[in-house]
Amino acid sequence: MSSGFIHPAVRTHKGLSASGNAVRIIVAAFFGAVLFTLGAGALLYSNTQRLTNAAERVQHTQDVLSSLQRASLLAERVLYRARLYSLEKDDDNLNLARSAANNLVTSSAHIRALVADNPNQAANSQSLSACASHLSDTMMQFSEHSELPAKQVQDCQKTISLMSDHEQLLLTDRTASSKSRLLTSISTEFFLIPISILCLIVLFALLLRDAIVLQGNTAVAQRVNDDLARSVSALEETARESELMTAARNELQLCVEVEQVYATAATSFARLLPGTSGSLYMINNSRNHVEVVSSWGQPNHEDFNQPEACCSLRSGQPRWRQPGVSEIHCSHFSAAAPERYHCRPIVAYGNTIGLLYLQCDTADLVPRVTGHMDAVRQLIQITALAIATLNLRTKLENQSIRDPLTNLFNRHFMQISLEREMTRARRRKQIMAVLMLDADHFKRFNDTHGHAAGDAVLKAFADIFRSNIRSEDIACRYGGEEFTIILPDTTVKGACDRAESILSAIADLRITAGHQSYDGFSVSIGIAFFPGDGESAEELLQHADAALYDAKHNGRNQVCLYERAFSTK
Ligand code: GH3
Ligand code: MG
Ligand code: MG
Repeated sequence: MSSGFIHPAVRTHKGLSASGNAVRIIVAAFFGAVLFTLGAGALLYSNTQRLTNAAERVQHTQDVLSSLQRASLLAERVLYRARLYSLEKDDDNLNLARSAANNLVTSSAHIRALVADNPNQAANSQSLSACASHLSDTMMQFSEHSELPAKQVQDCQKTISLMSDHEQLLLTDRTASSKSRLLTSISTEFFLIPISILCLIVLFALLLRDAIVLQGNTAVAQRVNDDLARSVSALEETARESELMTAARNELQLCVEVEQVYATAATSFARLLPGTSGSLYMINNSRNHVEVVSSWGQPNHEDFNQPEACCSLRSGQPRWRQPGVSEIHCSHFSAAAPERYHCRPIVAYGNTIGLLYLQCDTADLVPRVTGHMDAVRQLIQITALAIATLNLRTKLENQSIRDPLTNLFNRHFMQISLEREMTRARRRKQIMAVLMLDADHFKRFNDTHGHAAGDAVLKAFADIFRSNIRSEDIACRYGGEEFTIILPDTTVKGACDRAESILSAIADLRITAGHQSYDGFSVSIGIAFFPGDGESAEELLQHADAALYDAKHNGRNQVCLYERAFSTK
């Protein structure tokens, strides 16, 4: 299927091929221009050469003409001086006539040399030389009675005139030819100059076009590079994000307590959004307290009582507070509220269980956070799920091992614990005590004040047990108004002291239920020790119960040891 979209790489390829063509055209144009310049140079050189030759030939003809003119003057001078000598008989004139005749011979030889390349003139020059020699001989023998050499001079003049006419024609021809060559040369130059300028313009235009195309290609390449760099960095960011999410998911799966989940979530947010600060808040079951459970960076946070203090919790929607987006501040800050922050409810199975608070101290952090919003949403979801799962697990565990009224361990858990603690005491060679406790005359209290008041008393007893035992001791509701307390790693005195302190606390107990206040409570306690008072859990419990029976029998509100109980029987 075709589409209007052209991949940048294809565009670049086309651009490259176009620039390849442009290079070929420029190279061809360059070689064309070089060839043209060489041809034009050769043409100009040959024109100049021909012009020079034509000028030389014109000059040569002019030399010949001037030599002929000189020869004509010399011939006339010979006749003139010969005539003067004939009239004046003056030897000077004779000598001058003879010298002129000799000069004419020399000039004729010179003319002969000048026209040697011209076959037509060569014959004339020979006859001129012969004529001049004859005249010179005649003048050597010339005397006052000699006839004037008019005939010889006339012959010479005739030959000179013939030669001059011929040279004149040649001069006309050569001058015309020279002019024509000059015109040709000038027109060639006129023709060549525009062509050369045109070539330069074409080359310049090609180079300019190429430079423009190159500039365009460079800009496109730069854009493509920028796009590529952005894509690579976005991909790297996505890879980092998914790596972080996988690590966070794995870590959250390992958590066995919600506190670990809170800490893991805070660490993951700090890694995902470097530079930010933030906190995780949890809402209590009564929904009247929102507590900071973990944080990263340096957030402006503190516990608050009303969930509505947070705009996000109030609206049930994630929300950014930042200038230009929303100016309204949440009211859950201890100090002045920061300028930019994001609040997002933490929802598990449709219940809002907490709040994510993200604080951006600088404006440039906001786009970085919004760029990771999908990951933030996912991280919140898996955190909420982990918290809900652990809470559910704890609830289920509590339900299976705890008594719902007193929140003490139940009888089933006590029996398992007793077996385990006996094994441990045996292995560690420690003494363990089992206390059986029974509320005195509880039926009477129940019958007098009602079952609800009785329940309140049982709860108060449980609180007393919890506050009078160590963390490793196990307090259980055995059934009804009977309780068991397992004290691992103890002594006879330690167990007795603890039982006494329970008796004393119960004696001091005053309960207010409804509008009534009750006091004067007591319990009876029987104690059996391991090892010594029994080898099995069952036996140990029976003996503790026997001791309890003894305590009841002896008047209640007291502690009896199994051995002593036996010893009293
Ligand atoms: P004694 O001093 O000999 O132990 O006298 P007692 O009245 O405590 O003993 P008895 O076994 O006759 O009575 C136990 C009473 O405890 C009976 C019952 O009403 C009360 N009881 C047992 N379980 C609960 C309970 O879950 N809630 C309340 N309110 N009373 C309970
Ligand atoms: Mg009882
Ligand atoms: Mg009782």
